Amino acid sequence: MTLMPAVFFGHGTPMNALDSNRYTESWRAFGAEVPRPRAIVMVSAHWYINASAVTAMARPKTIHDFYGFPAELFAMDYPAPGDPGLAEEIAELVQPTWIGIDVDSWGIDHGAWSVLVHAFPDADIPVVQLSINATKPFDYHFDLGAKLAPLRAAGVLIVGSGNVVHNLQRIDPRRPDSAFDWAQRFDDAAAAVMTGTPADAVRLEKHPDFVRAAPTPDHFIPLLYVAGLAAAAGQTADVLVDGYAMGSLSMASYAIGGRDVDVDSDRGAPPLPNLPADEMNI
Ligand code: ZN
Repeated sequence: MTLMPAVFFGHGTPMNALDSNRYTESWRAFGAEVPRPRAIVMVSAHWYINASAVTAMARPKTIHDFYGFPAELFAMDYPAPGDPGLAEEIAELVQPTWIGIDVDSWGIDHGAWSVLVHAFPDADIPVVQLSINATKPFDYHFDLGAKLAPLRAAGVLIVGSGNVVHNLQRIDPRRPDSAFDWAQRFDDAAAAVMTGTPADAVRLEKHPDFVRAAPTPDHFIPLLYVAGLAAAAGQTADVLVDGYAMGSLSMASYAIGGRDVDVDSDRGAPPLPNLPADEMNI
């Protein structure tokens, strides 16, 4: 049986949606290389709520969940269809874990579309989003990821979108393409787990640099879904691309079951508009 790859994209800031750089090119190359999925299940850092839910609308709206960015970003649309049948299938598959069917609240948020506009620019593959239940411990997310494993055999591409290191308070524009030492230490530890022992991913929470790397865990948790999928299949992840932006963002992406992709660009992630860190919702 052929297993669809699964992937974690380090999405960085919304500016990547408009840019072309080594990260966006690796997302594009991954999308071009992967067998055409029946549908995409997206676990985005930006749907971080007090419940597990899955979008089930036929026409999910494009959500612009940030402010202070160029008008061009607010004008972006990712008109992929939804897949209500797949939403029901997921709710069934993960029982007894309860997942709510969302028919009218969410859609496709910028954690999702900022990578999908590059990986699947035609927006013709159905997308459902799975929320991150903020009330649950890390092993819940790892286990839920593992429960999604049968979807890979059914042609569904599972995507986590976040950042392994994501500390907006520590962003330093003077370090456009490099990392603070603590950021690099945590990123290296996560890379060792993903490429060696994905079953240990939950333990990254105990790493001495975890609190600085993920002061809020929303961007880290999508990685746990991909780690759970890797462990369930007895696979390890490959680094799709790695690097840093502004000192405190890891741009690392990981794929399981994919092929290596080549990226020609050596351009780093784009700068941010001039906004105070505490006014950014990204
Ligand atoms: Zn984000």
